[in-house]
Amino acid sequence: MVDSAIAAAIRTLPKAELHLHIEGTLEPALALELAARNGVELPWTNVDDLAKQYEFEDLQSFLNLYYQLMAVLKTEDDFRDLMLANLRHAAEDGVRHAEIFFDPQVHMKNGTAFETVLNGLKEGARIGRERYGVTVGLIMSVVRDESVASADELIDVAAPYANDILGIGLDSAEVGFPPHLFEDVYRKAKELGWHRVAHAGEEGPVGYIEEALDLLHVERIDHGTHAADSPAMMERLAAEGIGLTSCPLSNLRLNVVDKPSDLPILEFMNNDMAVTINSDDPAYFGGYIAANYDILVTGLGLKLDDLARLAGNSLAVSFITEEERAALFAELEDWKTEHLG
Ligand SMILES: [Zn+2]
Repeated sequence: MVDSAIAAAIRTLPKAELHLHIEGTLEPALALELAARNGVELPWTNVDDLAKQYEFEDLQSFLNLYYQLMAVLKTEDDFRDLMLANLRHAAEDGVRHAEIFFDPQVHMKNGTAFETVLNGLKEGARIGRERYGVTVGLIMSVVRDESVASADELIDVAAPYANDILGIGLDSAEVGFPPHLFEDVYRKAKELGWHRVAHAGEEGPVGYIEEALDLLHVERIDHGTHAADSPAMMERLAAEGIGLTSCPLSNLRLNVVDKPSDLPILEFMNNDMAVTINSDDPAYFGGYIAANYDILVTGLGLKLDDLARLAGNSLAVSFITEEERAALFAELEDWKTEHLG
């Protein structure tokens, strides 16, 4: 357990969250509530039975449950409520700005219109900003184990709403679905003025990170855990200032690493990489963003000044305006004065 004064400091540390799937914030209780509200049949009828399913062997075993539960999300109100529940947690954990993934292809396959998903999330973000003071950008994520044609169609569906979308991402089952498949999709995304990020090097090899950089022209790598296998890649990521969105509890729960001391966070920091800390799918992996900072203290021995540096990285590689960035860095300086002396 992390010391209570440290835990409290972590929860006031001003930070940005850059790797979170809104569908991954669906808590068992809300999933059951929405299933009842929308008449969706699930194999579990109480929270305890459902919570018992949250033991995973790898990325695929998690994805199976994740996609099954996504079927309970149907209406604008559902997406609004999901966003609001998440932003309440985010605010409690000191998040000041969040760039949040959503997976329209899965919802559209479930019979929910793109506009329904987008409008609900936007409404949740609007209310959440007023209520909790957290700003939100939406990153539309392509499900890489769906066809490339489906990704292409998604771009066409989303294009009229280009201004409501901050960027494009690439997620889901990684191995066997290399970034180069989506070169054309990312070119179109760039033409629409979107930022570009992609999951790479979570379960996939370092070569997938290279493809994401060279062919998709991404500005951040999501996860990037396997960059640690290649000193040359770590040097490149540092030199190009590419942000990495690490998710410690996710890596542990999906057995990407065996134990906290195997997380390459310190190695990335020692190589001057812009590594950031995030929660990925917090409802499934045992904690929101602050719990991911906690594990760096208990598992890697990081100190508050290290955590402040990681939070600073998250502000540095956020897709916010320079004015917003300066304001958040000023908040971080105040926090440092208070907590680091
Ligand atoms: Zn992810």
